Amino acid sequence: MTERIKILAVDDRPENLLAIEALLDGPEVEVVKAHSGQQALGLMLGEDFALVLLDVQMPEMDGFETAELMRGHKNTRSVPIIFATAISKEQKHIFRGYDAGAVDYMFKPLDPDILRSKVDVFLRLYRQRRTLEDKTRELDAKVHELEELRRQLERSNALLERLSAIDGLTGIYNRRRFDEVLDMEWRRAQRNKTPIALIFVDLDCFKNYNDHYGHLAGDDCLRHAAEVMSSVLKRPSDTMARYGGEEFAAILPGTTAKDAAALAEQMRAGVQALDMDHACSFVTHCVTVSMGVASIIPERGAQPSTLVAAADTALYEAKQTGRNRVIIHPDAAA
Ligand SMILES: [Mg+2]
Repeated sequence: MTERIKILAVDDRPENLLAIEALLDGPEVEVVKAHSGQQALGLMLGEDFALVLLDVQMPEMDGFETAELMRGHKNTRSVPIIFATAISKEQKHIFRGYDAGAVDYMFKPLDPDILRSKVDVFLRLYRQRRTLEDKTRELDAKVHELEELRRQLERSNALLERLSAIDGLTGIYNRRRFDEVLDMEWRRAQRNKTPIALIFVDLDCFKNYNDHYGHLAGDDCLRHAAEVMSSVLKRPSDTMARYGGEEFAAILPGTTAKDAAALAEQMRAGVQALDMDHACSFVTHCVTVSMGVASIIPERGAQPSTLVAAADTALYEAKQTGRNRVIIHPDAAA
């Protein structure tokens, strides 16, 4: 059962209080009685009342003084008041400054029907206010919960991104995975004294392509090139990755420079065969790639950066000598 709503009845005459109690007390309403203004103020500080029925004529502190003091305290300031007065109607405006709509007047003797209907109005308002407060609290809790979920989601996304090995645009491995694989395969080649090859790929005049066709078309171009180049690699140990921007790289364990160059040539031809229009290329009318190849049998203590630098140098030469070609680094041609 829900808690009864409390009404505070204040009157210096016990028989009046009993009459009010008999009239209003019931399954939903609890009438709390106070015999003086002082006692009423004390009760209001400790309890939540939906309404105060306040006798105006009381010895010591009268109803208006009591209401004045209620107005001065934040706990009691907005508790509605029905003044019960025996004095003439002209005096009903004496009390001012209380929250508008929170004050009503009744004349003694109290008419039971009018009292009930007035009290009902205030009880309805009180219930509405309580419901609203409950909903607001629920909403606050939900908002809090959602904020916590959003923080969790952000943490998961960040973790996922750290753990991810896939380039979002092209669907092939990303630079992070490239670095991991290269490191792993380099050490394996070191142990086994076998060659490890690297192909570096750069899309020719790709900045011009983006400027001319826009970045969405640029993205499509990267996707198609990545797809056709990946399709050339058949061995599970081979790794194709997006190295950055329009640069790609293939790690080929156990592969000589000659064999790697043959694969690179297939990739180059495959991209050109896509025949993607490139009106601003210095090379030809369609999208092409330049490629640098290097292969090394890693010595003890050598770093994978040696291989990267060699492939990069070869790629630079491919670009310097007219693009759309495969160049093998002469000193890294294991
Ligand atoms: Mg009285």
